[in-house]
Amino acid sequence: MKIYKIATIPGDGIGKEVIPAGRQLLEALQASSSGFGLSFENFGWGGDWYREHGVMMPADGLDALRHKDAILFGSAGDPQIPDHITLWGLRLKICQGFDQYANVRPTRILTGIDAPLKRCAPADLDWVIVRENSEGEYSGIGGRVHQGHPIEVATDVSMMTRVGVERIMRFAFKLAASRPRRHLTVITKSNAQRHAMVMWDEIAVQIAREFPEVTWDKELVDAATARMVNRPATLDTLVATNLHADVLSDLAAALAGSLGIAPTGNIDPERRYPSMFEPIHGSAFDIMGLGLANPVGTFWSVVMMLEHLGESAAAQRVMQAIEHVTANQALHTRDLGGNATTAEVTAAVCAELLP
Ligand code: NAD
Ligand code: MN
Repeated sequence: MKIYKIATIPGDGIGKEVIPAGRQLLEALQASSSGFGLSFENFGWGGDWYREHGVMMPADGLDALRHKDAILFGSAGDPQIPDHITLWGLRLKICQGFDQYANVRPTRILTGIDAPLKRCAPADLDWVIVRENSEGEYSGIGGRVHQGHPIEVATDVSMMTRVGVERIMRFAFKLAASRPRRHLTVITKSNAQRHAMVMWDEIAVQIAREFPEVTWDKELVDAATARMVNRPATLDTLVATNLHADVLSDLAAALAGSLGIAPTGNIDPERRYPSMFEPIHGSAFDIMGLGLANPVGTFWSVVMMLEHLGESAAAQRVMQAIEHVTANQALHTRDLGGNATTAEVTAAVCAELLP
């Protein structure tokens, strides 16, 4: 029997609540004779680790993860530590260290969820946003000099490489080709950003030739926000830069009902390294420790993880279990307007998996 080695990294805030819930779900799945085994190793990295060791994760941390089959991640972000330290010290270290260059964010309105778009049917909103996850606006290149003086200068340099753009475009076209609509929207801003984004557009045209079965169009990122709200059914698969997709995917999550539901995968498509799956929300300081966090974003991330591992049947079973539970208003957490707790939702989804 195949045994998958799963690393869990709860991180900070509600990550410490939803990741144990995700593990509970995976254990329930395993117990329901899924046909595969799971072995877990938990890593207590994050804000607490930082307070104790002065770093978010150990220097050799990547080596502890390297031979895992997948990583389930919670959130990096602590009320007492600046966000750029928590983000770069843990999550981005793993994403960059394992060259997880494709960030994949599916959005759908799950059964029973009351989404804010009143003029569209739930079925009109079925998107996957592909986010370039290794360069662009979040390349980390830049600096600050003359700090505190009137002449202070600060830069964040957006860097795009042909290799980086070609590989994310190819990944996005391939993903679009695998979905029923076979349509890709390339998000750009080449009217204002006249160097790298122009190259981005040119590479889209070039890669499109490899995928004659995919229809595609181009949309400026600002116009894309309006299109998402006004004409959601015209979109299917989207590809965008690191920053643009970061913003668009939070909008997508809100349009689907709550940030607490949305999942993501940080994928190394070449499978040289483990890929990492996580809910897109952060530490949620306002509700941490209260047992109110919605675990559905983590559960859907588990579904993505199972798909990545090639366990499609198990992934489908878990997704069905999730939607049976979201269909029941009594099992909605506070972010969805309900009163259910993390533990209640988790128990309900696990119960759905019983044979
Ligand atoms: P957030 O996602 O933590 O919270 C935004 C709002 O959504 C809050 O009101 C929160 O209560 C609510 N919310 C989020 N997830 C929820 C869930 N599962 N159930 C119920 N409600 C939920 O975003 P923020 O406030 O901008 O960031 C807080 C901290 O988290 C910051 O330190 C930030 O840097 C970090 N963060 C980390 C990640 C990550 O690690 N991937 C992502 C986003 C934010
Ligand atoms: Mn974000």
